[in-house]
Amino acid sequence: MQELLEYRSKDIPYSRVLSSMCTIPHPIAIEAHNHFIETNLGDPGIFRGTKELECKLISMLGELLNNEKAAGYICSGGTEANIQGIRAARNIKAIKNSNIVIPKSAHFSFEKIGDILCVEIRRAKLDEEYKVDITAVEGLIDENTVAIVGIAGTTELGQIDPIDELSKLAIEKNIMLHVDAAFGGLVIPFMDNQYPFDFKLDGVSSITIDPHKMGMATIPSGGILFRDKSYLRALEVETPYLTVKAQYTLTGTRPGTGVASAYAVLKTLGFEGMKKIVKTCLKNTKVIVEEMEALGFEAVIEPIMNVVCFKCEEAERIKEELYKMRWVISTIREPKAIRFVIMPHVNEEVIKNFISDFRKIV
Ligand code: PLP
Repeated sequence: MQELLEYRSKDIPYSRVLSSMCTIPHPIAIEAHNHFIETNLGDPGIFRGTKELECKLISMLGELLNNEKAAGYICSGGTEANIQGIRAARNIKAIKNSNIVIPKSAHFSFEKIGDILCVEIRRAKLDEEYKVDITAVEGLIDENTVAIVGIAGTTELGQIDPIDELSKLAIEKNIMLHVDAAFGGLVIPFMDNQYPFDFKLDGVSSITIDPHKMGMATIPSGGILFRDKSYLRALEVETPYLTVKAQYTLTGTRPGTGVASAYAVLKTLGFEGMKKIVKTCLKNTKVIVEEMEALGFEAVIEPIMNVVCFKCEEAERIKEELYKMRWVISTIREPKAIRFVIMPHVNEEVIKNFISDFRKIV
């Protein structure tokens, strides 16, 4: 145990991390997690109660995303959820040499999707606000396109694509629309400004929504929700020796801990509690914007959610200098900029400590 703890002590604590979309789990999530340590949802006939809980959590998330009939499961994270969303689209359409159209701003998990699922990935350019350009998406769609993708909370800028327009396009072209709301799914519903991004839009077929990000659940806890059960059938394989006859998940053995911890947080905090958390993160985002502006930095876009980037030609050098001081920030692909994610652990004290060291560098 001493050996383990020595390794663990080398990890950088969240209080010095301004780059991650994960955070310290809520105390109730840790308690719930501990009760479910040995659960395996890969064989739900054994872990019947845990499976029932997963169904309740999916209904809860479905309700949040304006669809009580939503079907899905809790998976390892946004990567798996995105794979499964696109895998369902590919299997349903069953077209040879299929392709999908994604925004240039999409998460790198789509690189893996192209490789694993053997679908061509077509990247549509962005407009001047870093939202996907609808005309570009339309221009890339052809008879082999099985799905288009919109991002509700881009990893780099926290921008929200025009999902309503993508939805219209998906209906017109009779293809699936997968919305990657891995981060934004548990932010947007709790913001004062409303953005259409969920199943309320008829063209949306599937949504990625990760409790292990802003849901403060323990890792791993990702979510994939489909408009209805029929999509899950497109993912099923037979399971000759389990307590169920078929399995639609990507992994076999999978933990129930993410289900329990995510459910515990949402049930404990409720809509109002989540709203408070999001409000605090947005307030702290403003604090960091003010501090950075006072130092002469300009935000790439006015932050929509609790992700913010500042233009900086020396972004890489600054990131490295900060890392030597045990601060973790990140940089983005375009334009050259430094990026902060203001998660619940990035409170005013963390920001104060960070800015004090940041000043020394710049
Ligand atoms: N999609 C988006 C928009 C993300 O921001 C991320 C991760 O940050 C992912 C997908 C991948 O999620 P995970 O790392 O949980 O697989």
